[in-house]
Amino acid sequence: MAELFYDQDADLSIIQSRKVAVLGYGSQGHAHALSLRDSGVDVRVGLHEGSASRARAEEQGLRVVTPAEAVAEADVIMVLVPDPIQAKVYEESIAPHLKDGDALFFGHGLNIRFGFIKPSTNVDVCMVAPKGPGHLVRRQYEEGRGVPCIAAVEQDATGKAFPLALSYAKAIGGTRAGVIKTTFTEEAETDLFGEQAVLCGGTTALVKAAFETLVEAGYQPEIAYFECLHELKLIVDLMYEGGLEKMRWSVSETAEWGDYVTGPRIVNDQTKAEMRQVLAEIQDGSFANNWMKEYNAGLPKYNEYKKADEDHLLETTGKKLRKLMSWVDDER
Ligand code: NDP
Ligand code: MG
Ligand code: MG
Repeated sequence: MAELFYDQDADLSIIQSRKVAVLGYGSQGHAHALSLRDSGVDVRVGLHEGSASRARAEEQGLRVVTPAEAVAEADVIMVLVPDPIQAKVYEESIAPHLKDGDALFFGHGLNIRFGFIKPSTNVDVCMVAPKGPGHLVRRQYEEGRGVPCIAAVEQDATGKAFPLALSYAKAIGGTRAGVIKTTFTEEAETDLFGEQAVLCGGTTALVKAAFETLVEAGYQPEIAYFECLHELKLIVDLMYEGGLEKMRWSVSETAEWGDYVTGPRIVNDQTKAEMRQVLAEIQDGSFANNWMKEYNAGLPKYNEYKKADEDHLLETTGKKLRKLMSWVDDER
């Protein structure tokens, strides 16, 4: 069973005695920087020249310097820039300014797990990753609550890395909800697998295939959209609140029977064998290496896939239908 840590297990004064640099001020960066500050931690934000986030950070009362200056000033460095550019930021702005006993923090294990960043042995390497988007992390903190976090230590140069990670998690509200101990390897591999097999890849492919099946059989796209995409939210909300059991309690007996007899025909042994293959490609690093290659080549295939889905009948139908539903917020 997972090891869980709460407020009473974490000492806030540890992080309060350090100087923290938060690199990046996006979804996670803004939540960490503001909540660290409100927890009495000495924090500065590191942003590159011309960053669109700079004005927002300054408006919210934070001091913004360059990433290199932030690392030089600080002794805890939280890296919250986009994953594909972290290695470059590490080489250019972090590594030259790291000192013995500093701590390098991440919100996701990808770059450490797959070796794109190889930190020197004289620093602690930790992860504190909230299990929710940054805006929820910040809102929960402001309301006196918190979003559960996972925490890990990859390298314990000082022998005090885990209490430091817990202290950081406490400062952003994580220990109010509970912090689960993990490893960079477990976090990176399961995060990639979850988003590919279920959350993003599996779900979009399932919705598209079912929508296409109905439309190809002559049903109206608008009706197919409601049945295969729109109503998914109701089902996911029920599963989120009470697992499969609450969802099944809420739907009709007919729907529940269809769930039992048809689900295993759609996601079958062949699908599961493919899932194991997907996991193997994550574990052996080929997924991460291919993704970095694609990113560094200027995203040619990524843009091709993106365009193809933008033009898909599912999307053009959805765009029209969502205008009919005043309560559906399509802002981004
Ligand atoms: P975002 O894309 O929301 O934000 C990235 C930030 O980095 C922006 O402020 C951007 O500035 C800034 N930035 C870009 N380039 C540089 C640079 N060279 N130097 C300094 N700052 C730079 O990222 P996320 O918050 O989504 O992700 C950050 C990390 O958190 C990732 O490791 C991610 O995996 C992890 N994470 C994200 C979660 C989420 O909910 N989004 C959940 C858990 C973990 P600009 O405004 O100029 O673009
Ligand atoms: Mg992810
Ligand atoms: Mg129905």
